[in-house]
Amino acid sequence: MAFEGLAEKLQGIFKNLRGKGKISEKDVTEAMREIRMALLEADVNYKVVKDFVNRVKERAVGVEVLESLTPGQQVIKVVHDEMTQLMGGTQSKINLASKPPTIVMMVGLQGSGKTTSSGKLARLFKKQGRRPLLVACDIYRPAAIKQLQVLGEQLEIPVFSMGDKQNPVDIAKAARAYAENQGHDLMIVDTAGRLHIDDALMSELENIKTNIRPHEILLVVDAMTGQDAVNVAETFNARLGLDGVILTKLDGDTRGGAALSVKAVTGKPIKFVGMGEKLDALEPFYPDRMASRILG
Ligand code: GDP
Repeated sequence: MAFEGLAEKLQGIFKNLRGKGKISEKDVTEAMREIRMALLEADVNYKVVKDFVNRVKERAVGVEVLESLTPGQQVIKVVHDEMTQLMGGTQSKINLASKPPTIVMMVGLQGSGKTTSSGKLARLFKKQGRRPLLVACDIYRPAAIKQLQVLGEQLEIPVFSMGDKQNPVDIAKAARAYAENQGHDLMIVDTAGRLHIDDALMSELENIKTNIRPHEILLVVDAMTGQDAVNVAETFNARLGLDGVILTKLDGDTRGGAALSVKAVTGKPIKFVGMGEKLDALEPFYPDRMASRILG
């Protein structure tokens, strides 16, 4: 279960605070030292941890204690608020086109869950009454097109493909014309991934971006890869300019570092989280709920 270790540690730290009548600066300093360690162990980016702890400390020491809360609860509230802010504050929505179709471009490394997430996202939009089209632009991995077609069949959502002989820019352009003709108000473009970031991949993605001008570029990263996920997000953001991130595999045994660091490091919010292999396991990301979950 994700965050189990972190939640347990934080609860232990807060238990010590709860027992006290009044909290001194020394208590806060001690608690912050432990929180710092717990976050670092959870693979949260070092600088993010440092800034976070400083902010909490600043707010927690010398704060006027609300009548309804004990000083210990007050510190927990500050930690909760700051954690929520760290992850973007409020839920971030997808940019929609003023003139349909909305074009969502999915990018990410191989194995991150990009193709699965494309299907899951299309399903969410369909449930909202939209008419999504899935577009197969990963022409390098032979199984990718087939995988998207199988997903489309399961979800009863059409898949636009031109096989693997055309270049992805032409496929994406043709898909947009098709979407317009067929009355699709939204298209989700599944692009190629690689095992590692390389220049050829980035150039291709830039080329697709320039040519189809997506309203939303979403990076899919695997939460299990911890700080690597954050580094990948930084690199993709620098080259492409992301609008948001989908963090997958949060149902696994992840320590939580990526969820807590992505927004602070890249400036781009997590918009959805993948919570399992099933096609209904994609949820909008709510920073405050995630903070509650992490704090246990
Ligand atoms: P791609 O190479 O990025 O397109 O990755 P895929 O979509 O093929 O996904 C790779 C593997 O991760 C597949 O076995 C998916 O079922 C699995 N996967 C994707 N998202 C999640 C998730 O949120 N949780 C879990 N447990 N598995 C996921």
